[in-house]
Amino acid sequence: NQPLAIVTGASSGVGLHTTNALIGRGWHVIMACRDLAKAETAARSLDMASGSYELAHIDLASLDSVRAFYAGFRARGVPLDALVCNAAVYLPLLKTPARSPEGFEISVATNYFGHFLLANLMLADLQKSAAPRLITLGTVTANSEEFGGKVPIPAPADLGEFQGLKAGFKAPVAMIDGKPFKAGKAYKDSKLGTMVMSRELHTRFHDETGIVFSTLYPGCVADTPLFRNAPPLFQKVFPWFQKNITKGYVSQSLSGERVAQVVADPGFSQSGVHWSWGNRQREGRKAFSQGLSIKATDAERSRELWDLTAGLVGLN
Ligand code: NDP
Repeated sequence: NQPLAIVTGASSGVGLHTTNALIGRGWHVIMACRDLAKAETAARSLDMASGSYELAHIDLASLDSVRAFYAGFRARGVPLDALVCNAAVYLPLLKTPARSPEGFEISVATNYFGHFLLANLMLADLQKSAAPRLITLGTVTANSEEFGGKVPIPAPADLGEFQGLKAGFKAPVAMIDGKPFKAGKAYKDSKLGTMVMSRELHTRFHDETGIVFSTLYPGCVADTPLFRNAPPLFQKVFPWFQKNITKGYVSQSLSGERVAQVVADPGFSQSGVHWSWGNRQREGRKAFSQGLSIKATDAERSRELWDLTAGLVGLN
């Protein structure tokens, strides 16, 4: 029985290489992407065997599209062994917020709301698997326990008292904390949201369903297209800086291999963990459970964030 994974945002970077690494482990992968022609070209660029993957359309920024993707999958009636919540946009140069079809700020809508809805819809399909996992890409910049999470450019992740969500998160509101729009912070906030989501999924559903819910930071994959909307100079200097100064740099293929380990390997069967290989890369270093900041672990705040988000994505 070939295990089946869905990887969101598999048309480039970490998601593409995760797909390749899972195929290498004998998995079949549904590449859930917004641009199917691009995804097909990307799959071919890595010589992925046709038949080892398939393409399915999803625009995570659109709640209707997430529901349509889900309906298509559900109609097949097959168990799902792993869902990898990977897709993201990072738009640090935006001066004014871009909006999703529902009117939400685009990075929170794509990176967080879309995955929140998808994860909730797919719980029943995951439960049909003998060893299901729901893995979410986290990041160091959303974890103020670590140095990378303290960097004040433009500000650390901070969801405040969720004032923006409470106000409905539509124009003129653009930030979860209801404060003025800061594009780079919106990305960090969205990633903090997905990391809280994973912990809360664990709290609510792990015992009942057996699904393993974890997040990971695969390292700084400084040369993926994630940074295509950053200033050109940054795009040149950042990979060099991460390779030579911080030593945090990880290649796209190693990042994919790490995500695939967390998805598939027996050593990663613990639920409720944030996996990391540290911020300075060292040959042969093993993954460890990285502590998260109180912003990601406070139980009462997590519950409140869950309820507000469920309301906004139409799950209540
Ligand atoms: P990429 O930009 O290479 O990949 C992002 C993927 O998400 C692409 O396939 C993109 O599709 C897809 N995507 C974007 N918007 C949507 C949407 N609305 N609907 C569906 N798919 C969408 O970035 P990375 O590979 O670097 O990032 C992948 C994940 O890894 C992210 O969650 C990121 O936060 C995380 N991460 C990355 C790190 C890094 O250093 N790069 C470090 C830590 C975490 P398209 O090709 O059409 O644009």
